[in-house]
Amino acid sequence: MFNKILIANRGEIACRIIKTAKKMGVLTVAVYSDADKDALHVHMADEAIYIGPSPSRESYLLGDKVIAAAIKTGAQAIHPGYGFLSENADFCRTCAAKNITFIGPPVGAIEAMGSKSAAKNIMEKANVPLVPGYHGEDQSSAVIKKAADDMGYPVLLKATAGGGGKGMRQVWNEQEFEEGFAAAKREALSSFGDDTMLVEKYLTQPRHVEIQVFCDNHQNAVYLFERDCSVQRRHQKVIEEAPAFKMSEELRAKMGESAIKSAQAIGYQGAGTVEFLLDVDGSFYFMEMNTRLQVEHPVTEMISGQDLVEWQLRVAAGEVLPKTQQQLVLNGHAFEARIYAEDANNDFLPATGKLSLLQTPVESEHVRIDTGVRQGDEVSVYYDPMIAKLIVWDENREKALKRLSKALSEYRINGVTTNIDFLYNLATSKPFVEEDIDTGFIEKNNDLIFHDNAQELLNELPIAALYLVLSIEKKALQSALHSNDPYSPWHNANAWRLNEPHSHVLVLAHNDVEYTVEVEQKRQGNDAYYLVKINSEQFDCQGTLDDDNLVVNINGHRSLATINCNENNISLYRANGVFNFTHILPDFGQHEGDDSHGGLTAPMNGTMVSVLVEAGDTVSKDQPLVIMEAMKMEHTIKAPSDGTINEVFFQAGDMVDGGAELLAFSTSEE
Ligand code: ADP
Repeated sequence: MFNKILIANRGEIACRIIKTAKKMGVLTVAVYSDADKDALHVHMADEAIYIGPSPSRESYLLGDKVIAAAIKTGAQAIHPGYGFLSENADFCRTCAAKNITFIGPPVGAIEAMGSKSAAKNIMEKANVPLVPGYHGEDQSSAVIKKAADDMGYPVLLKATAGGGGKGMRQVWNEQEFEEGFAAAKREALSSFGDDTMLVEKYLTQPRHVEIQVFCDNHQNAVYLFERDCSVQRRHQKVIEEAPAFKMSEELRAKMGESAIKSAQAIGYQGAGTVEFLLDVDGSFYFMEMNTRLQVEHPVTEMISGQDLVEWQLRVAAGEVLPKTQQQLVLNGHAFEARIYAEDANNDFLPATGKLSLLQTPVESEHVRIDTGVRQGDEVSVYYDPMIAKLIVWDENREKALKRLSKALSEYRINGVTTNIDFLYNLATSKPFVEEDIDTGFIEKNNDLIFHDNAQELLNELPIAALYLVLSIEKKALQSALHSNDPYSPWHNANAWRLNEPHSHVLVLAHNDVEYTVEVEQKRQGNDAYYLVKINSEQFDCQGTLDDDNLVVNINGHRSLATINCNENNISLYRANGVFNFTHILPDFGQHEGDDSHGGLTAPMNGTMVSVLVEAGDTVSKDQPLVIMEAMKMEHTIKAPSDGTINEVFFQAGDMVDGGAELLAFSTSEE
């Protein structure tokens, strides 16, 4: 085994590789750019070498600098991770010339899979099934069109040099062909500098099922089952799972054996993935082979109990595969969700910023988190904005899926927009739960994932309102209990406003539409309940708030919500998805004398300057009630409507926590 390896990568995959190397007693060398000088992977490695400015083409993509770092530190091997230099044949060749082991396949295998059409030729010879199509050298539009006409539309044009979902174009009928062909060639030329095209039958409801293979230098080859990566956005994987659902033992074995044939056809060594399209009738077709460790490898590790990075190191060091096919056992079901800094509501636009809060679910045998960032780190513009991979395991798909949605609801990230809501909505959507999935899943289920249903929303609004009221009351109670006045009546929590009905008027917004919600506390014997009014609808609500968990009963329907509240943004994680609301606070940024509207809770941390009313006063709408000072500015809080002051919870000079209730107020009956 190697004494020391260099990891030519960053982020979560660099950290992932370092973990296994440590476990195996192998020393590690990290490389880093300016943006990463304090990154997690740098801290985890035994040594780290600076390789250049932040843009990856000036650092992580410079093979010579990486190799120089390996020579300088005496690293015997380089693990390229995925992306960057991992499928770069020149880099692989230079490593060999410098006597450094490239932890990956032989250069010939990388080259063989570098072109989609060359790869197809090889697979055809090896009897691996291909999507019907044409991948020949004659590139005239007449020849390619004839192939399309012969197999029937729709067809898919692909740039042979393409990758990452780019350079593909669907053509739905003969009339569209010429225009589509010209456009696809233009796109391929500008993206890859090569406009060679192939054409394939376009499958309308395929699944993306890929097989993990492993080969050593001693003629051994195994497959570690399959992953289903059908859920994609713009041909990028979103949630992956292993094993694939609705997969028979027979089909698994057939696909596994085909994958091994593919790998052997190119003299493969190490970890590889053979991607197939699986059609509705159970036919499967070779798509491509990825000659590296994949992002989604953890789901395979969870169901096989094997450490694939350890296997990679062993194979690269010349050892035989740790297990034979017969020894490999598939156990349970795993999902991986890719948590990204991106705005799913804005066409998945990447987001950047500082991770001011980063709390993850607790890791266990059921929950694994692969990440390269810590709280306080920056998601920069320079690299892939992936924050983490959340991986869950349980004994079957149903249980594992429950683990996934629970873990997603427990993630707390502030400072950067993330796709967690999107992932949660997807994972809890009926067709996903019911395995009604193909590569068009996200487009087809757009409404479910983005919750455009007004009635559904109306049912969730009272829960958000109830949460706000309960947390306001909790805060008010806590600040009263912590006051220094030993005679404060609020030290006796039991007596807390026992007979004081009061109401709140809240404004909650969803997708920029504002809803006014009136919440009135009522009593029935010793039980408190709340009457929530929205437009003309009325809801009888009860709730118990315990940290982030709210048990609610709305009109006799009891259910659970996990709540993530970040400043004024409230996310309700419900069994049917996430619902986001913004609590619109009145504008307090103005001085006394202007016409701002007041509310009854403190809009920020501050000091009470003066209290202008006392219990029992009747007040009219917009009448100043209290003045607070914060950030050297005075803010007047005014009556939201005509009403009565039931209690005043603070006096001049008191420190007030943001969100604390300042006054108990009830609106006059209309
Ligand atoms: P890339 O190398 O750019 O990732 P692939 O050939 O691997 O391109 O295809 C990416 C995705 O495009 C697949 O996962 C699948 O969703 C879709 N796809 C590819 N070929 C076909 C086809 N013939 N019919 C339908 N969908 C396809």
